[in-house]
This record gives sequence, C-alpha cells and structure tokens, in this order.
Amino acid sequence: LGNIPLDAAALHAVIRLTNDKIIMNTVPYFINGSEYHSKSTRRLDIYNPALGKVIRQVAAASREDVDAAVKAALAAFPAWAATPPAKRAQVMFKFLHLINQSLNEFAQIVSEEHGKTIDDAIGSISRGIEVIEYCCGIPSHLKSDFTANVAGNVDAYNIRQPLGVCAGITPFNFPAMVPMWMFPVAISCGNTFVLKPSEKVPSASLFMARKLKEAGLPDGVFNVVVGDKEAVDAVLEHPDIQAVSFVGSTSIGQYIYQKGSQHNKRVQALCGAKNHMIVMPDADMEQATDALIGAAYGSAGERCMAISVAVAVGDEVADDLIARLTPRVKNLKVGAFDCSGIEMGPVVSKQSYDKINGYIETGLKEGAKLVVDGRGIKIDGYESGYFIGGCLFDRVSPDMTIYKEEIFGPVLSVVRVKDYETALKLVNDHEYGNGTAIFTRDGDTARHFSMNAKIGMVGINVPIPVPVAYHSFGGWKRSIFGGFAIHGAEGVRFYTKLKTITARWPSGIRSGSQFNFKRGS
Ligand code: NAD
Repeated sequence: LGNIPLDAAALHAVIRLTNDKIIMNTVPYFINGSEYHSKSTRRLDIYNPALGKVIRQVAAASREDVDAAVKAALAAFPAWAATPPAKRAQVMFKFLHLINQSLNEFAQIVSEEHGKTIDDAIGSISRGIEVIEYCCGIPSHLKSDFTANVAGNVDAYNIRQPLGVCAGITPFNFPAMVPMWMFPVAISCGNTFVLKPSEKVPSASLFMARKLKEAGLPDGVFNVVVGDKEAVDAVLEHPDIQAVSFVGSTSIGQYIYQKGSQHNKRVQALCGAKNHMIVMPDADMEQATDALIGAAYGSAGERCMAISVAVAVGDEVADDLIARLTPRVKNLKVGAFDCSGIEMGPVVSKQSYDKINGYIETGLKEGAKLVVDGRGIKIDGYESGYFIGGCLFDRVSPDMTIYKEEIFGPVLSVVRVKDYETALKLVNDHEYGNGTAIFTRDGDTARHFSMNAKIGMVGINVPIPVPVAYHSFGGWKRSIFGGFAIHGAEGVRFYTKLKTITARWPSGIRSGSQFNFKRGS
C-alpha cells in the first residue's frame, strides 16, 4: 500500500490518507530494471530538513534484498562485460542527454531531501555530469599498451577487464554527484553495480536508475537498494561482490575498508576532512574573503572539501580577515531551498543540528572567540527546520576540539600563526588530508606549498580544488583508505583488472600455402 511509484508527482505528494490512516509515501528500490518493494518491515524516515518533518520513508534493506540486487547484477554481468565499450558508451551518451534534459527536476529531488539550494544542487549534479561525459569516451580510456617483439616474434600487450559486480556506498551530502563518481565509471568499464545510497537521501538514486533504464541500460546492470548498517554489512560480506567504493565519514570508512578487505574485496574508501586555507600576507584579501565565504558556508559547510579552517599568517592578516568576514557571515541569506535568493539551506538532520551546536558550545568552553553566532535562528514558515546561521570563530588553537574534529556545518575557525612554516606544519600535522588551499601572490611560496603539503588535493588561489572528472579525486592520511582515488584514470584502474598477454604464433599457413592463383588452374 505504501509503495507508490517514484515519479515527480509522487515525490511531492508527501502523505496519503487512506481509510483514515496516514500512510507514508515509500521510496522503492530498483532491481533488475524494475521497482522493487522490500518485505522488510523496518522503516527509515526521510526528512525535508527545511521543514524538519518526515516526508517519506524507505524500507531498511535486509540481507535478502541485497542478495536479490547482487543476483540481478551477477546475471547481467556476462552479457554486459561482452558488450563492446563503444556500445556501452552509447548508453552513457543517452544517459548524459537525459540527465541534462531533466536537470531542474533532478535538482529539486536532491534539494528536497538534502536541504541545499537549487543552484548548489544543480552545481553538484553538473560535477557528476562531467563524470558521465568522461565515460562517453570509455573506448579511449580502455585502450592499452602493446609492445611488438619483446622476444623474437613474441608480442606483449595489456588489457583491462571488468571485475564483476561492484558496489557503492554513498553519503548524504551529495545525493547525485558522489554516486556519479562511481557507477558511470564502473558500468562503462563493463561491470554491473549495486548502489546503496545514504538512507537520508535515496530518491536521487532512484531517479538515476530510471534514467539509465530509459537510456537503454540492460536490466540488472544498475541496481539500487536502500538501508543502513544491515544492508552495508550484507554488501561487505557478499561473496559475489568484487569491489566496494565508499564515500562517507572516517570511522565508517575505516570499518568498511577493513571488513571489505577481510572478505577479499577491492575497497576504496574516501572519508572525512578538515580542510585548511592558508592566507598569506601578500594574498588578495578580497579574493580570499570571497573564497572563504563560498568554501566555508556553501551547502551549509556539509562538503568534504569545505574549508573549515582559515590559517591567517600574521595578526594583521587575521584582523583584516575577521573584519571582512564578519559582516558577510552575519548577512548570509539562510532559508529553505525553494525560497528565492537563498545562499545557505538547513543542515541535514536534527542529529547534525545538535552535533554542530554541541561543537559550538565546546569551542566556547575551550576558549575560542565566537565572532559571529548563527545559533538559534528561525526562518518564517520553517520554524521546525534545522537551520544554523553562519558561525565564525577567531583565536582557535590546534589543541581545541573544534580544530581537531570535522564539524560538517557552517562553522569557520580562524587560526592565527606567525609564519608560513607554522601554517604548513599545521596542515601536515592534522590527521585528515583531503583538500587544502593557499592564497598568495608569490609563486615560490605557492610551489613550495603544493610540493610539501601532505594533502591529496591542493588549491592555489582556488579554495575548493575538486579535480575535474578526467583527473581523479582523493585525499591522503585518514581521508582515504585503499590505494585508489575515485573517477578519471584512477577510477578506470579501480574498476578493472589488468591482464598482460604474451603471444607467440607458430609459423603456419603463411609459409605452407600458396595464395596466388596458379596459371591454368
Ligand atoms: P556516514 O559515514 O555516516 O554514512 C556514509 C554511508 O555509510 C551511508 O550510506 C550510511 O548508510 C553508511 N553507514 C552509516 N553508518 C554505518 C554503520 N555503522 N555501518 C555501516 N554503514 C554505515 O557519512 P555521512 O554522514 O552520510 O556523510 C558525511 C561524511 O562523508 C563526512 O565525514 C564527509 O567528510 C564525508 N565525505 C567524504 C567525501 C570524500 O570524498 N572524501 C565526500 C563526501 C562526504
């Protein structure tokens, strides 16, 4: 009864009344080319965080549900793996077209469950679209090496073959983009895929599954199940899954890496972050301020590449930065995603809301100076929403909890240091190593920083250096487990096995036979 097809209308029909009972609209899974309705009675609530209300539910996938998805993926694998890469690319071209065509509808689905502004949702989907574009060129990406005559009349060449059934486990903060970092690469390489998106934002994954089907993807190649730990454990232990891609928090990522490896899977786990932006005395301060506003408060700070620490080199720089940032942070336009002129939406859940407020309390207790306090804001018409206004801390030090831990909210900490060397040391000593940036006009400093920062992605006067799709995305230190970054060439390597063939052909028909017509015959 609660299983209502996931079309645009159903997504916006929040609650149904039948026989005087309130029945929640339930998000289905997508298995073997069709909607799939779990028998699981355990239901997970999906919120509109601007309203602070449950808008639909999803069944928590059981082992049987995961198994059904893996079975479909396993059955689809041989034919899909044998499909020429150029044909697989044609599906990607159609999928690209369909996603571009439905961008606004798609963004609406992302924003409603996540809370981010429509512009931000469109921006993030566009970064996912780049990965699909990359995959339209999969025949080129799978081209390999050939060496003639490695020994007399012996040739050697490499091919990359798909792994089989691959799985993706994704976080709430990019309901479309992060899954698109994974499955377009996996399936265009010839694998089949089971996606387990965040249970907080599952509708975007269902939307993509439908579009893939419309694009002509054979049934079973892409499947979606939704759930929590139970579903994840079923994925990690399933003998027919060859590889697991994970994006999420560090504690869960480490668990996934260890458990997946124990079960002999190839695992890549991209995890949490605490990204520093160094502001040097010669930086363009207006540019640095603009950069910090976007990078710290965009998407309410719920980005793994958000800048959460500004490292000001010298008190003069710090004072100037605080003076420039303060009015901008105070005036950030906070509201629901579907209100116009909004710069920042709510945070995703009550749990996140409480956690972020808890960190702000701790920051104050530990002696940081809260220059802008965004707590307790109320938005007209959305009084129960999980809104936190922009918060700005000055005089944060490396021993403080708000410096050490990932807050994942609209909270920027300014740390004051005396020189560049101290700033670099801070970046390198932190346990996370996802992204970092330096703002300077000096090429020597910038080059030294890019060569010596122990961080996976470095920006020079670029605050959020997310690599484009044909490069690869990945941090260092406790921001990643496993040896592969995601998408681009690293993605192709992750989702394929290398095979090297050494070939010698005995002399045969060429020397023994005659190919020309004989006279008179
Ligand atoms: P999360 O770790 O809570 O959840 C990620 C996935 O793991 C979800 O699908 C969830 O269902 C599953 N999961 C949650 N608890 C689990 C458990 N106990 N056992 C097994 N599986 C479990 O992360 P989140 O809150 O959804 O996302 C935010 C985090 O993701 C932040 O730490 C952020 O930095 C990180 N992130 C990292 C990147 C990156 O590329 N490095 C990108 C986006 C987000």
